[in-house]
Amino acid sequence: MNKDNLFVFLLSASPLASYFIGRFNRAAGLLAAAAILVFSGFALVVRDFGGVPFMVLVIWALAAIAHSLLLNSWASRPVSEEKKLQASKDRALKLQSELKTLTADFSAVALDEKKALVLYSAVKLLSEAVDLESAGKQFARYIKDYFETGEFTFYINDPNAPAPGLFAAGEKPELLSWERISRTAGKGPPNTRQTPVGGAGGQGLAELAWPFVIAEERIVAAPVRHAGETVGLFTLRFEQNAFNRDRVMAAAQKFADEVSFAVKRIQLFRQVEWLSQVDGLTGVYRRNALDEKISEEIRRADAFKTTLGFMIVDIDHFKKINDRYGHQFGDFVLKRVGALLRASVYETDFVGRYGGEEFAVVLPRADFAGVLRKAEAIRAKIEEENFAQGLETVKLTVSTGIAHFPRDGAGGRELIASADKALYKAKETGRNKVVDAGSV
Ligand code: GH3
Ligand code: MG
Ligand code: MG
Repeated sequence: MNKDNLFVFLLSASPLASYFIGRFNRAAGLLAAAAILVFSGFALVVRDFGGVPFMVLVIWALAAIAHSLLLNSWASRPVSEEKKLQASKDRALKLQSELKTLTADFSAVALDEKKALVLYSAVKLLSEAVDLESAGKQFARYIKDYFETGEFTFYINDPNAPAPGLFAAGEKPELLSWERISRTAGKGPPNTRQTPVGGAGGQGLAELAWPFVIAEERIVAAPVRHAGETVGLFTLRFEQNAFNRDRVMAAAQKFADEVSFAVKRIQLFRQVEWLSQVDGLTGVYRRNALDEKISEEIRRADAFKTTLGFMIVDIDHFKKINDRYGHQFGDFVLKRVGALLRASVYETDFVGRYGGEEFAVVLPRADFAGVLRKAEAIRAKIEEENFAQGLETVKLTVSTGIAHFPRDGAGGRELIASADKALYKAKETGRNKVVDAGSV
């Protein structure tokens, strides 16, 4: 082949380079085609291969190169479509994740709202409760809803009781008892914080380093404080997956703080209830409260086929004491006798003031001999006592009538009448003695 033909061939093939190389990289294809075109064109011009055929060839080659560029840009179009598709996929993914965060935020807000509502209901319940027993049950349901755990206890300090009262509880309350928490808190037995009303011995909740955590058992305890006073104790136990020490501690304390004023109200409500049952002078039950206890204990004794002891203790010649030493001293004597009686019987027995200088004691499950022994011990104790106030020291005695359920009466009224009859007999036969209705 002569050289002219070779360059004509190269020139006419240059669009092929643009096309085939351009499939992979359009710029490289264009560059290669341009290089071949310029090189062969220059060679043909130098070799004097000019004229119309040359011009036509160059124009056609240029047109073919332009066409190849166009072809390649069409060919690459699916690639850019793919890119577009990928881009919109990415956008969709991004939107999806944004939506996810928004949904999470929204459900967090909804959860907060639900908790706020439960808390509000709990506070409202405690603020309005009259029937404390059912209020305690409902309160337990609220705690369960709020913390999503079935294990908890809620204690309210009772200044008149030997221990804080369990107001609401979930499952396994023994694991979460205030004694256990106080003991585990490592501060020894709880201190007596408040002066008990009516002199009843009472232990309050200790002032411990609250809130308190037993991490290995996933227990959290928070004090319920009102105006600097510990009015209750709130404890919770969590499952492994729900126990986040700091979060749970903060939540328990927040809950305790939010309900504390309503808890204080419950405490005061209980106190008023207690006071209305208790005689202001002597600190023992009033007559109607004791009558209720008698009926209740008789029902229980009847159901469980046990016995019940009852005694009336009347101070001998009390009128004379009043007359000789004045009413104030008389009041002091009554107070002291009330305290002696309460100290002489079990926690589960009931002491009441029946009339001016008459006291009564209900002794559930006591047998004949036991009640007689107790009555005699009380009589002896009072006989030994020196009733002293200021310069006055007085000795006195009591007479006691005893009756038993079911032996001396099927109901409260009959039982009291029998005890009264026995008391009358004791007075009649010389005072300072105990008479059992069974022997009258
Ligand atoms: P008896 O040995 O027969 O029981 O004689 P008594 O004097 O104890 O009995 P009586 O029922 O005749 O008198 C009871 C007295 O108790 C009369 C009343 O002045 C007095 N009294 C009743 N309630 C109170 C009180 O709250 N305070 C004082 N100081 N005295 C009271
Ligand atoms: Mg008397
Ligand atoms: Mg009397």
